[in-house]
Amino acid sequence: RAFNFNAGPAALPLEVLQQAQQEFIDYAGAGMSIMEMSHRSSIFEQVNDGAQSLLRELFGIPSHYKVLFLQGGASTQFAMIPMNLLSAGKSAAFVHTGSWADKAIKEAKLIGETTIVASSEADKFNRIPSLSEIQLPEHAAYLHITSNETIEGTQYAAYPETGDVTLIADMSSDILCRPVDVSKFGMIYAGAQKNLGPSGVTIVIVREDLVAESPKSIPTMLRYDTHAKNNSLYNTPPSFSIYLVGLMLKWVKEKGGVAAMEQFNRDKTKLIYDAIDQSGGFYRGFADAGSRSLMNITFRLGSEELEKQFVKESEKQGFVGLKGHRSVGGLRASTYNAVPHESCKALVEFMADFQKRNG
Ligand code: PLP
Repeated sequence: RAFNFNAGPAALPLEVLQQAQQEFIDYAGAGMSIMEMSHRSSIFEQVNDGAQSLLRELFGIPSHYKVLFLQGGASTQFAMIPMNLLSAGKSAAFVHTGSWADKAIKEAKLIGETTIVASSEADKFNRIPSLSEIQLPEHAAYLHITSNETIEGTQYAAYPETGDVTLIADMSSDILCRPVDVSKFGMIYAGAQKNLGPSGVTIVIVREDLVAESPKSIPTMLRYDTHAKNNSLYNTPPSFSIYLVGLMLKWVKEKGGVAAMEQFNRDKTKLIYDAIDQSGGFYRGFADAGSRSLMNITFRLGSEELEKQFVKESEKQGFVGLKGHRSVGGLRASTYNAVPHESCKALVEFMADFQKRNG
């Protein structure tokens, strides 16, 4: 298998893929694949409920929160959140941390008033603003943060305290990478395709009171209450993706749960950050030390030419996905939960060898 450092869709554990392969044609003796089955069948309901309850257990989701499996990606949430939760006279507050926060802000602006309460744009988004920089306006409907900026490789070390104001987090690229106190958030959402499984399903964890009744003017599929009242089965769900999310969660549980994932991720990323820091300036980390991500490691070399050569040679040696996002350039290693320690070790060895030949 490749040393897969893709940013998303990203690596899945081999064991998960093998189990899916085994069950692909005949799921649980039903004589058909899970993807051929009615979403109203009792077998699929078990898959749906099973994935939901495993996520509740692993992430410590309180019982007064709904867990929804939606479609349209995290990008659709950028619009659904203000449509459902931003009323006239209120403002959607944002911390502007990078490319994904930016997209969320642009969508919210189409719906209503927005306020940027802190930004690291002047620093090219190489850091998460410090919590003391975040001042909420009085009429804030909610504060939206991007827990991990996938492109810049920055991540909140601690989350802002917002008192009575609802805190909403886009955790698309770091959900389940470490334990989180879910009760501090009104809503957490994530496209599944990085840490939770394949693309096609978006996880929304939301406090019940926030989704009890959406404004009447919103189309049915874009209302949280539609999905909350129907256990995410209002229409045909992405059943195969939900099934794979269930397998992925089972894998996380078998590996010791979310706290074990954090340790595992810290060990992996330390290898790579140490390699950057100890390279005498040959490799230069993009993110400020206090904002470094456990999931996306962004770094640069002395010239774009050298970066291109790094990518080309790495590909020849079985590495995939190390080219940085086109908007920031450089290199990026995405080290999601499913990326094995051995891949990171191999990368560090490659980095040392590349430096020896080009330093
Ligand atoms: N938010 C973050 C932090 C992301 O990394 C991504 C995708 O890379 C998205 C949102 C968009 O997700 P989707 O492609 O599921 O719409």
